[in-house]
Amino acid sequence: MGWILNQKIGMRLRYGFGIVVALVLVLGAIAIVEMNAEAGFTRDLHEHPLKVSNAVRDIRSEVIAIKRSVQDLLLAGSAGDIQAAIDEMDQREKTVTSLFQVLRERYLGDQREVQAAYQAFADWKLIRQEEIELVGKGQKAAAIEISNGKGDDQVDAIEARIAPISDFARAKAESFYRDAMRYRRHHLLAMSGLIVLIAGASIVTGTMITRSITDPIGQIIGEMGKVGGGNLGHKIRMDRADEIGHLARAFDAMTENLQKTTASRDELNAANQQLAANEQQLRAANHELKANAAELSFRNAELQSIVYTVSHDLKSPLVNIKGFSEELEVQGCKLIKHLSLVDLPETIRQDVMPLLEEEIPKSLHFIQASTVKMKGLLDGFLRVSKIRSAPIQKETLDMNALVKSVLATMQYQIETGGVTVTVDDLPPCMGDAGQINQVISNLVDNALKYRDQNRPGTIHISGRREGDCITFWVSDNGIGIDPRHQDRVFEMFHRLDPNCPVSGDGLGLTIASRILDRHQGRIRLESEPGKGSTFYISLPSDGGHSAAPTFTRGL
Ligand code: ADP
Repeated sequence: MGWILNQKIGMRLRYGFGIVVALVLVLGAIAIVEMNAEAGFTRDLHEHPLKVSNAVRDIRSEVIAIKRSVQDLLLAGSAGDIQAAIDEMDQREKTVTSLFQVLRERYLGDQREVQAAYQAFADWKLIRQEEIELVGKGQKAAAIEISNGKGDDQVDAIEARIAPISDFARAKAESFYRDAMRYRRHHLLAMSGLIVLIAGASIVTGTMITRSITDPIGQIIGEMGKVGGGNLGHKIRMDRADEIGHLARAFDAMTENLQKTTASRDELNAANQQLAANEQQLRAANHELKANAAELSFRNAELQSIVYTVSHDLKSPLVNIKGFSEELEVQGCKLIKHLSLVDLPETIRQDVMPLLEEEIPKSLHFIQASTVKMKGLLDGFLRVSKIRSAPIQKETLDMNALVKSVLATMQYQIETGGVTVTVDDLPPCMGDAGQINQVISNLVDNALKYRDQNRPGTIHISGRREGDCITFWVSDNGIGIDPRHQDRVFEMFHRLDPNCPVSGDGLGLTIASRILDRHQGRIRLESEPGKGSTFYISLPSDGGHSAAPTFTRGL
């Protein structure tokens, strides 16, 4: 039993089926042998006693028929009747001879009995021969006498010789039949025993194999119930080599993984909770940020308004300062003239005149220069402020026409500077005509202003549609911008070289950047000192109804 439990279930079932099939084959083989034996009895019965009995029966009837033919011979009136009776006799005689041949072959008793019977039949032939000759000679009475005498006696002798053969055959047939019946009984008993044996063996084998499968499965189901009840740490621990052992080990591994997964799930839940908390914090921070942005926007607008008001209001005191300082300058000149006519003590003259002729004009000059600078700054603030508050009227712009008009206004600088300007076919865009014109003008103006004097200037203007936005760019081969300053050029009043002889207030790019902000656009630059710069502006193709555009790298 032990060895079968170590086999795989498939192998066990194969063994079981193999045993049952082997038993059935044995039963079948025995049945075939038994049936053959039974058939042998029947065959023997048929081949010997029955055939012998039939032959004896036929000999008797043929002998009677020959006897009748002898009488026909004795009663025959014509030669034809005689011949017919003789022919009939010859025919019957041949039949009897062949029947005796059957007896010789089939008779299981003493063959001398057959020989004696045949001899009696052969002796009868000689008597009949004698009768035929007498009839042939016309001596019928003598022939009848022989027939009734010797002839009938010989017929009786034949009967006496074949009677034992017939009895023996009948007895033999009965004996065969008895043997067959006895054998059949034994055979039935043996077969029934075998069937019961095979059925028992099959039941035992089947039960053993079934139990070797169902018992451990029942055990596993019980153990699984414990795990199903929530005890994930419970192990089946079934040490078997078959599939059920594999199943138990796989289940143990699964519960172990499940335990780990549950632990991970708990961790995940904790992480999720943390994430939710963080998200809430983020949402709060975002909310706060939005509030701050709104506050900032409000403050910014307020600041802009203050800047605008202050810039505007400071202009009149500045005009006063400038006017009165110029007046003071004029009055100082007059005072110098008057004092030159007055006879002043030398010490006082030496103290006052340098003040009036040098110190005061110098101070007044500084005041005036500062007022000019301050006016420039205030104008700049006002210009930037105005851009912020100027209304925007967006429309579809024919950029080819717009650029053409910009270049026309700068034709003089282009020609005198010997600059070559090339323009690609430009896509249209949505924007405020005046403000976009201002941006393009500023970029072309800068490209002209900051050209490299050591080489002929070139400016190239191009543009293309890219997804949801349209990008234009102005490239030059000018002096370029140091990477350290590239971000700062968009700041207010920022000039790379404050002593640069080229005119400018450091506001052009600031204003361009503000205009693009208001169009939900962007501006950026790529530049290399000594090689040139390219300024890119990008505008939403639908005029800013979608998200703000992002620059594609490599443009
Ligand atoms: P500005 O009135 O000085 O031209 P911008 O705001 O237009 O003011 O430009 C700011 C500064 O950026 C300029 O002073 C210049 O130094 C630099 N800059 C602008 N465009 C170019 C350019 N195409 N090539 C080189 N430098 C430039």
